[in-house]
Parts: sequence; C-alpha cells; structure tokens
Amino acid sequence: MSDTVFGKIARGEMDADIVYQDDQAVAFRDLNPQAPVHILIIPRKPIATLNDASPEDAALVGHLFLVASKVAEREGVAEQGYRTIINCNAQAGQTVYHLHVHLLAGRALQWPPG
Ligand code: AMP
Repeated sequence: MSDTVFGKIARGEMDADIVYQDDQAVAFRDLNPQAPVHILIIPRKPIATLNDASPEDAALVGHLFLVASKVAEREGVAEQGYRTIINCNAQAGQTVYHLHVHLLAGRALQWPPG
C-alpha cells in the first residue's frame, strides 16, 4: 500500500496528539473532532482497509478494540458510553487508507449514524 499520514504518525515521522501507544498500536486525537472525545487507534502495521486485514491480523485487529476500551477508560467515558467505528472504502467515508478505529464519546451519538 502507499504511505499515508497515519503511517508517518505510526513511525514517529509526523506529530500527533498521542494519548496511548504500544508495540502494535498508536492512539491519537483526531484533528477534526466530531465529538468532545474523538481518538483514532491505528496499527503500526500498514493495512489499508479492513478488507486488507488477513487471518494473521486477527489478534492485531482485536487489539485495536482493546486499546479503544483502555483509552475510553483513561478519558473517563467508559461508563457513560462511546462508539467505535471503522470506515471501509469510499462510500463509508474512508479518507485515510491506513486502517483506523474511531473512538467517539462525550455527547449523545445519533443512531443509526448518517
Ligand atoms: P476516515 O474518514 O475514516 O478515513 O477518517 C480519517 C480521519 O483522520 C478524519 O476524521 C480526519 O479528521 C483525521 N485526520 C486526518 N489527518 C489527521 C492527522 N494528521 N492527525 C489526526 N487526525 C487526522
């Protein structure tokens, strides 16, 4: 896959407001937040879309969601509630082709989403 801004953040080549990181994942605040808490969780491994995740990535994809719950706890929104979203490809609104989980919280979230 071609390099993206998130690849640069994962490699430490571009600044981001990082709230959590480990050997497999990085979590940072979205530049254009859609809720009071809007954090992106990415794998360090460059995977373009969820369609490109393979069975060998199963634990990694699961890890992204466990990071989301850990970050939600740290942000103080775990009890009140939060939403995790992966946009896959154009019709879902994916704009950055490096797999990422959106963590949204801090206001009542519309359901179903638009
Ligand atoms: P998506 O539409 O699912 O691909 O989401 C991409 C998200 O990345 C959007 O919410 C953007 O606001 C966010 N974004 C793009 N560039 C950056 C950046 N350099 N740092 C933080 N968030 C970013």
